[in-house]
Amino acid sequence: MARTVLVTGGNRGIGLAIAQAFAKQGDRVAITHRGTFDAASAPDLLGVTCDITDSAAVDAAFTTVENELGPVEVLVANAGITDDTLLMRMSEEQFTRVIDTNLTGAFRCAKRASTKMLRNRWGRMIFISSVVGLYGGPGQVNYAASKAGLVGVARSITRELGTRNITANVVAPGFIETDMTAVLPEDRKAEILKAIPAGRLAHVDEVAATVTWLAGDAAGYITGAVIPVDGGLGMGH
Ligand code: NDP
Repeated sequence: MARTVLVTGGNRGIGLAIAQAFAKQGDRVAITHRGTFDAASAPDLLGVTCDITDSAAVDAAFTTVENELGPVEVLVANAGITDDTLLMRMSEEQFTRVIDTNLTGAFRCAKRASTKMLRNRWGRMIFISSVVGLYGGPGQVNYAASKAGLVGVARSITRELGTRNITANVVAPGFIETDMTAVLPEDRKAEILKAIPAGRLAHVDEVAATVTWLAGDAAGYITGAVIPVDGGLGMGH
């Protein structure tokens, strides 16, 4: 059965791969972007401008999607940023900006999505966290806190809305080949590779496959879970 899917930050990287995987299986898919979306290269995706740090913009984006494709049945809260530096050097602004995007941004979207999901007695929320959320990362106090916070968000939603056929899960990717990891210094990349049991970074499609599976009927009894897609990097965390 085709569903209406919204992927935040779906104009590139992991988000785009997720959006394309849903579109490929016949779902109606919208993505949010902040002005840079090559609509011609992805004609089966509805692009909606939205900065997830702005509640009014989130509300407007959902309204557009509802009008064009119907109520959002599957929310993939994917948009996120890093702003790495060591704790001693991290400004409060650097900390709160990452939290506001990665954690509060996901909250804004989940809250807006929940109304219609409750009315429809069906919904899937998938939060894209990171192995770093539970494992920690040097220079990533802000990012790790935001990604760990998503676990609390998903598990609380699970307890609040579980009886209404609404699931809330977290996908925790390890290191994936995208713009976000392209900026890592070579020595840091080599260090990371040594720690990954699979011995390689992942492809975006490997995250997308997990997300589409979680949104499908086969995964209806999986909720409040943290699913790693990390080549074994975060084992035991
Ligand atoms: P990219 O940097 O390639 O893309 C980030 C996306 O988030 C872009 O679409 C960007 O939009 C969007 N975004 C950032 N800030 C905002 C905002 N304020 N409002 C709306 N959209 C915003 O990242 P990846 O594809 O690598 O990562 C996607 C998600 O996966 C992130 O949450 C990231 O933390 C997580 N992740 C990534 C890993 C990796 O190795 N790459 C590993 C683990 C988790 P715009 O194009 O406008 O900037």
